[in-house]
Amino acid sequence: MEDFIPSSPAAEVTGMYSCGPTVYAFPHLGNMRPYVFADTLRRAFRWKGIAVRHVVNITDVGHAVADTDTGEDKLEVAAARERRSVLDIAAFYTDAFFVDIAALNILPADEYPRASAYVEQMIEFAAKLEKDGFTYRLPSGLYFDTSKDPGYGELAQMNAEGQLEAARLEYVEGRRRKTDFALWRAEEPGKRRVLRWDSPWGWGAPGWHLECSVMSMALLGEHFDLHTGGVDHRELHHVNEIAQSQAYLGDGLPWVRYWLHNEFLQLGAMKMAKSAGGAPRLADLTEAGYHPLAYRLFLLGGHYRSQLDFTPAAVDAAQATLRRLVTRVQSLRPLPVVETLAEATASVRDDPVAQQYLDTIDAAIAADLSTPKILAALQDALRDPAITTDGQRTIVAAADALLGLGLATLDPGDLERRRAVSDLSAEEQRAIEELVADRTQARKERDWARADQIRAQLDELGVQVTDTPEGPIWQLR
Ligand SMILES: [Zn+2]
Repeated sequence: MEDFIPSSPAAEVTGMYSCGPTVYAFPHLGNMRPYVFADTLRRAFRWKGIAVRHVVNITDVGHAVADTDTGEDKLEVAAARERRSVLDIAAFYTDAFFVDIAALNILPADEYPRASAYVEQMIEFAAKLEKDGFTYRLPSGLYFDTSKDPGYGELAQMNAEGQLEAARLEYVEGRRRKTDFALWRAEEPGKRRVLRWDSPWGWGAPGWHLECSVMSMALLGEHFDLHTGGVDHRELHHVNEIAQSQAYLGDGLPWVRYWLHNEFLQLGAMKMAKSAGGAPRLADLTEAGYHPLAYRLFLLGGHYRSQLDFTPAAVDAAQATLRRLVTRVQSLRPLPVVETLAEATASVRDDPVAQQYLDTIDAAIAADLSTPKILAALQDALRDPAITTDGQRTIVAAADALLGLGLATLDPGDLERRRAVSDLSAEEQRAIEELVADRTQARKERDWARADQIRAQLDELGVQVTDTPEGPIWQLR
């Protein structure tokens, strides 16, 4: 744990950059953990009265399959697979990302820059590195020479030899060190890329690491305070962002003061309907009858630097906890608007018990974002007979300003777990499908009385049938 000291105390706004999604597929549950974590960090700064300007990039070009330096782009592969244009793919999966961001009650970032809009600046950035002697050219592109950076890899605490073995299995013809990475990925002869730009190193596309350095500096200034991402970025992507940025700036200062990484979500034990072959998405969770904020509560119930195991039992427990909290809070509504420690302190001045809970919450968020302790303090305060009702209102509002669980607006009914299709036995599903087929047949024979009778039967089973041009579809209410 470390104290936060802003780079320029006079600055009115603290800059924060979070590595964003590569928009070539639906984000799965694990992909969303970094944004819930970054949101918690933002809420912590707001709590302390420090304004944050938050930038999250959208990678719509330059990210090769398997994070390698050569080969096809993730987006181009997806476009070919789905028979859509790369731009369609990017727009579609960017929207899907924003849907999940909103469902998880994540405060929107101030900027979501698209990599494809910054390629000219990336070329200028790489050209300066070349002019300053940090690069070499190969037929496959322009490479950053990591031997020129004595501090290379400090973030990941790597040893000089044997470093990044796992991440660098790729063989690149002519690459001097395994750690050297592409700033520009030249088009292979005879293989024309879909998204391509002309550059001093030929037609091609930027390397994946370049965009974050370029876009963060463009939107937050050359140096800024906070950079976040998943722990998988600590070993490779962030190490390379730092190397190229500090070489570019050349002022001997650390590029970014604080790096924060969230741990992984283990999804191994989780199997959900419709996600066969892929990791479960937030939409799978809601389809299975859970509320998105139950997933948020599940994440905040662990510390961001701990691995979490996502299991059906864990998400059940999270949903039950959230339902209990929301039920208990109903009688306290409306809650006061409290976003900062100063606001909360002012409103509990006459309630020493509430003041103590506020101190506990403040100490917990300051202790490296200990969200499990805030949850515990909230639950204790709701049970405590010594606290005043107004004190309770303030504590709920204060805890929720940090946790973002929607306690001011959710209703217990939102958290009743609906029966999902995956809860039905095979026989039940078969019986419903037979009834739906019988109804279709009756309609074909214009036997409206029978069709209506079957619909009533389905209704009783909680099955809702919708007729579409492709035939009837059914779902549980
Ligand atoms: Zn990044």
